[in-house]
Amino acid sequence: MKILTIALQKDGQPIAASYELIEAAKSIGGEIMTACLSDSEAGASDLASRGGGKVLTVTHESLKLFNDEIYAKVLKALIEKYSPDLILGPATFYGKALVGRLAALCGGAMASDIIGLTAENDKVTVTRPSYGGSVISQVVAEGGNGFFATVRGKMFTESKDGPGEVVAESVDGSAFEAKMTVTERKVESSGAVNLTEADVIVSAGRGMKGPENLPLINDLAAALGGAVGASRAIVDAGWAPYSQQVGQTGKTVNPKLYVAVGISGAIQHLVGMRSSQTIVAINRDKDAPIFNVANYGIVGDAMEILPALTAKFKAELSS
Ligand SMILES: Cc1cc2nc3c(=O)[nH]c(=O)nc-3n(C[C@H](O)[C@H](O)[C@H](O)COP(=O)(O)OP(=O)(O)OC[C@H]3O[C@@H](n4cnc5c(N)ncnc54)[C@H](O)[C@@H]3O)c2cc1C
Repeated sequence: MKILTIALQKDGQPIAASYELIEAAKSIGGEIMTACLSDSEAGASDLASRGGGKVLTVTHESLKLFNDEIYAKVLKALIEKYSPDLILGPATFYGKALVGRLAALCGGAMASDIIGLTAENDKVTVTRPSYGGSVISQVVAEGGNGFFATVRGKMFTESKDGPGEVVAESVDGSAFEAKMTVTERKVESSGAVNLTEADVIVSAGRGMKGPENLPLINDLAAALGGAVGASRAIVDAGWAPYSQQVGQTGKTVNPKLYVAVGISGAIQHLVGMRSSQTIVAINRDKDAPIFNVANYGIVGDAMEILPALTAKFKAELSS
């Protein structure tokens, strides 16, 4: 079995999820290849030293800023050359945009947001949540044009080592032509912890009453060294940026600890966070649906509970 993992990069280095994909590939065995697309070869050697197998490196100035149209065309060329059976990408914002497009371009089967995979007799079965996480389904691909999947973050540890070599690839120049050009990338919140990579997330909902109370959320997140998330209700209300939205139309997160504050627990929110390892809910309504998925629940007014929790964590963590 040949497996191609797609190592997306940020600031010239592979994102953490790239190493998780290598670990996912290792878990079922086979010949591992890693696609490394960038404007420089900087990240390729690290991928090779951490078990990326044949690190197929395409270097071109058009690959500096992510452009799913160009990336998909370049990857299609690599897929035509190496014929992998399984193609794994990260279930990140960019990864989802890319791998769906790529599967369509190659005429392969696609499973998004998978949380596990197995292989028997070269037949891969992936596991993915369906119906908002209420059902866990097993998916196999029929047909021979490759099985494409995006892997949810933190379902695998990062590969630390393993065999690998950097292989420089050249691709036909037409692959770098696109209808759309990405000219600039602006980082929205410098210094903030990335939501999809965070181990701890404190998320705010409409129960926070207004943007003036959100510093209470930021304070708890800072005390725990975590990131700040939001429900769609408060993003739509303009209290928080879209980049913080968790859920069906926002980010899927999988932290060790997710604290939902003043969030009712609508299914569209739950699909983005219910696989978190530990969920703590703070809500003044003891019947709020969020308590159905929470490991720990605190019933009460968030405006009173948050300062007390923050003070307690600050004291505990500094002693
Ligand atoms: C197609 C579609 C896609 C969607 N995508 C998303 C998505 O990606 N993410 C998402 O989050 N939503 C999404 N939604 C919206 C979703 O259905 C809910 O409307 C939304 O999640 C509700 O946000 P909320 O829990 O903050 O607000 P509410 O449902 O209004 O809940 C507020 C909660 O705060 C509690 N509360 C009130 N005061 C306090 C207090 N003082 N202290 C503590 N608790 C208090 C209340 O008891 C209540 O449970 C989507 C909806 C649709 C139709």
